[in-house]
Amino acid sequence: MKCRKCRQKAIIYMPEHRLALCQQCYAPWFLDHTERAIKKFHMFTHQDRVLVAVSGGKDSLALWHALTELGYEADGLYIDLGIDGGFGYSDKSKQACMRLAERLHRTLHTVSVAEEVGASVPEIKELTRRVACSGCGLVKRYFMNRISLDADYDVIATGHNLDDEAAVLFANTLRWDEEYLARQYPVLQERDGLRKKVKPFIYFTEKQTTVYALVNRIEYVREECPFAVGATSLYHKGILNELEHHSPGTKRRFLDGFFKIRERFSSPERAKLTPCQKCGQPTTTEICAYCRLVDHIHRRQAAHSVA
Ligand SMILES: [Zn+2]
Ligand SMILES: [Zn+2]
Repeated sequence: MKCRKCRQKAIIYMPEHRLALCQQCYAPWFLDHTERAIKKFHMFTHQDRVLVAVSGGKDSLALWHALTELGYEADGLYIDLGIDGGFGYSDKSKQACMRLAERLHRTLHTVSVAEEVGASVPEIKELTRRVACSGCGLVKRYFMNRISLDADYDVIATGHNLDDEAAVLFANTLRWDEEYLARQYPVLQERDGLRKKVKPFIYFTEKQTTVYALVNRIEYVREECPFAVGATSLYHKGILNELEHHSPGTKRRFLDGFFKIRERFSSPERAKLTPCQKCGQPTTTEICAYCRLVDHIHRRQAAHSVA
């Protein structure tokens, strides 16, 4: 197959765009579409300081790379979850983020959950009997917000792609979860000390972000988080991939169609956010969920050491 722009050998065919592109023409196309999504949803401007939450995976590292290519002032934030999974998942991930930071000449902020909380994500799972992903999500949201405020970033960007968003929408629709549906959007506006959050890769498939990472020789961790293996979201992604294969463009239409009618899903009156009495981060309760988690961990650890 030949590149539609220059007739050289194509490296990717995107049936949903009826478009084949070569190695040279792919990155400019990808950057142009990144910019379009940023503008379409008014995510940020060249005056804003952007904090990219990087995990060491292809999507978030590709995002960081693409934003700097587009001339945005984008730094990285790596949250070390302390997950090993038998192959040093977190260590490998952190190294991948550090390598890209060096290459881009940008700052990488790092936070160690084990140091901050006093327990890594697997230890939090053991001590709280929470599902690993719920403790992990809580801790990530907390540090993304705290660091964006402390280090004065205007907006937090995450690498969620079309496959991720379509799978979440699919799950929310299967449950007709109005509250989640009302909130699913590539931009969450700033409110009461919660920084604005955006997803510039909302329209790219996993294949497209992977190819962008490959043509730019971005080294990323290929393995999934060991806790995510077998998650329902992966099962839903598989189903959506089958639909997409049968009818290219299904995921994008599913998402865009939803964005058009999304306002019909009303979010119930949202409780006002006030500063946590311990850490000052916005919360709906006196003490925020993060501080309550840290307290709980410390109590459990104290009980263990006594016993
Ligand atoms: Zn070409
Ligand atoms: Zn707090």
